[in-house]
Amino acid sequence: MYPDRVVSGMRPTGALHLGHYHGALKNWVKLQSELPCLFFVADWHALTTHYDDPSVIETSTWEMVIDWLAAGVDPAQATLFIQSRVPEHAELHLLLSMATPLGWLERVPTYKDQQEKLADRDLATYGFLGYPLLQAADVLIYRASQVPVGEDQVPHIEIMREIARRFNHLYGKEKGFEEKALAATKKLGSKRAKLYLELRTQFQEKGDDEALEQAKAMLDDAQNLSMIDRERLFGYLEGSRKLILTEPQAMLTEASRLPGLDGAKMSKSYGNAIALREDAASVTKKVKTMPTDPQRVRRSDPGDPDKCPVWQFHQVYSPSEVKEWAAKGCRSAGIGCLECKQPVIDAILQEQQPMLERAQPYLDDPSLVRAIVADGCDKARKLAQDTMRDVREAMGLGY
Ligand code: ATP
Ligand code: MG
Repeated sequence: MYPDRVVSGMRPTGALHLGHYHGALKNWVKLQSELPCLFFVADWHALTTHYDDPSVIETSTWEMVIDWLAAGVDPAQATLFIQSRVPEHAELHLLLSMATPLGWLERVPTYKDQQEKLADRDLATYGFLGYPLLQAADVLIYRASQVPVGEDQVPHIEIMREIARRFNHLYGKEKGFEEKALAATKKLGSKRAKLYLELRTQFQEKGDDEALEQAKAMLDDAQNLSMIDRERLFGYLEGSRKLILTEPQAMLTEASRLPGLDGAKMSKSYGNAIALREDAASVTKKVKTMPTDPQRVRRSDPGDPDKCPVWQFHQVYSPSEVKEWAAKGCRSAGIGCLECKQPVIDAILQEQQPMLERAQPYLDDPSLVRAIVADGCDKARKLAQDTMRDVREAMGLGY
């Protein structure tokens, strides 16, 4: 019932890496020409793990937007903004927190995982527990239907869906729905209101689908209706209640979990990443020194690709003939590990070349990036405010 929208964000905790590109950014770039897209810097989320030393956040914010632009995100198509510049996200987070059972948050797998992996930080905080709830607010506030993210985020999208469902269940049952729908009918003007009610009767009493379509088209065209009145009239038409928040879907890429240099998930925090705009010498060195099948000690020892992190890179970067050559050469000790790594190095450098070129104008003139983000913040804020009006009203705060 609401327009399709795409929302996704990333934490400004360091330079973006190839995992971000293959796991999320590729879909961002694809979707931006298909649907309205909003992409944001999740600076509040960065604070959940960096609250004691937030210095990295500000520089990473601007660098990250440059990384997005480098990857092909087009500011003429997508809206780019900073989470904390749209304070309505915090308001929705607070309102959602009232009815979110603690157990839902405690059971999210990343909650325990991250606490263990980042054991040097004290993550026994209120903010860290609320991480997925803030994320839910980020997405639900735009009534997004699709969220392009990496595989690790799927449980977070699932909890968003539950939160939206619970919200609609609790607050979608508006008191005096009939009266409010009839009051909204008056806002259509007397002629259109009469037609709307006739079409509604035709649909509800005679099952006339054409009448339903006609009435819907009429509501779509009615410029002077607020979002909430429009939804009420849609709901009234079909004899149902309104859905205030939309349940979003996760959208994954083919390589939704790119491994890092050590074979574990590539991550900013685990020191196993190749940055999107890393220089060629450093990329070459990192891949050349990356571990391979531990059983393959000497050049003459045959190896097992399934035990080698480089093989996982071949899966993402190599065409089938190169994969065949690498697997055969590894198993038969026909090629050495350095030889096997070369096509991966070449493919990564080739992927990075256009990104470096696209980033350059923004590095030369950082004011371009600030202007893109300022414009995006304004646009996002307007959309967020629309939803918040409905949310407040549904929760009895529509003074
Ligand atoms: P941190 O370690 O600070 O959490 P991160 O590298 O996990 O950093 P996030 O900002 O948490 O990055 O993730 C941003 C987006 O990139 C998410 O959609 C996430 O799923 C995706 N992503 C991150 N790492 C990978 C990866 N290795 N493979 C695929 N997608 C990834
Ligand atoms: Mg992460």
